[in-house]
Amino acid sequence: MKTRNMLVSLGGNAILKHTEKGTAKEQFENVRKTSEYIVELISEGYHLALTHGNGPQVGDILLAYDYAKDYLPPMPLDVCGAQSQGMIGYMFQLSLKNILKDWGIDKSVVTILTQTLVHPEDPQFENPSKPIGPFYTALEADQLRREKNWTIENDSGKGFRRLVPSPIPLGFVEEACIKTLYDSGDLVIASGGGGIPVTLTDGRLKGIECVIDKDYAASLLATLIEAEILLILTDVEKISLYYGTPREEGLDHLSKSEALKYLEEGHFPPGSMGPKVKSAIDFLDFGGKKVVVTSLESALDALKGNTGTTIDG
Ligand code: ADP
Ligand code: MG
Repeated sequence: MKTRNMLVSLGGNAILKHTEKGTAKEQFENVRKTSEYIVELISEGYHLALTHGNGPQVGDILLAYDYAKDYLPPMPLDVCGAQSQGMIGYMFQLSLKNILKDWGIDKSVVTILTQTLVHPEDPQFENPSKPIGPFYTALEADQLRREKNWTIENDSGKGFRRLVPSPIPLGFVEEACIKTLYDSGDLVIASGGGGIPVTLTDGRLKGIECVIDKDYAASLLATLIEAEILLILTDVEKISLYYGTPREEGLDHLSKSEALKYLEEGHFPPGSMGPKVKSAIDFLDFGGKKVVVTSLESALDALKGNTGTTIDG
């Protein structure tokens, strides 16, 4: 059987469903189910690395610090990102190890707490656009703007929320160890939540309070490990045209140029399908062979070409 190098990028619902509260039990149960699918892919001969989102988890960590602020010093966003990477990485390390054992596969599972490099003058720093953390009243918002110099805006009438920049990821501080461990056959989990954003100035690293789009970081990671395939698992079976309208049409196959054309026509909105399609195009531009977008349940079938959306040359 031919071994195929692949990066699997897990969307939010692989860890926590929209309808759930986020208890440890719920998250472990989701991660266990997700891990079953991952190990099945390994048993089919794929050599894979994993990455994942962290939106709900980092949101809960920020909320907990906010509630506890009279008792505990709140941690900055980069530190909260690190906490979420550690937490999710642990749940996967435990579940994957158990399931690999069930399948008789001897493999180490390791999470690399990943720092992602961003440019200190990325234009996104001038335009914080990602809402993050708890909702505030107008009064609290005023106070936080003054005390912490945060950008806070009214979030679709539901209350006031902090906005942070989302700069473009340029590389990973830990890229040499990610590559070494991956090449040695380990199951590597890296760049969780897009990684912890850091800058490198005059040879010094510095954590930055912003977020990185996990889809953009995923294409960078896939290129780094020289993956042939980028498998993006989300909560739809296929990418659609006219999504959410009566004209909705699921796509089986897209060429890179068709993907770009539909992206420009506005079929894939920013904040959901847009970054996935953009990162697919980047991955193909940097030598990747194909990108498959589908749901967790359909992963294996989609890799065989029976469902999902395949984007290639
Ligand atoms: P993830 O956590 O996997 O990153 P997102 O919510 O960011 O998930 O993106 C997946 C979502 O994108 C789908 O649940 C769907 O609602 C939405 N979406 C937007 N446009 C499209 C489209 N053209 N085709 C399919 N899904 C789309
Ligand atoms: Mg997303």
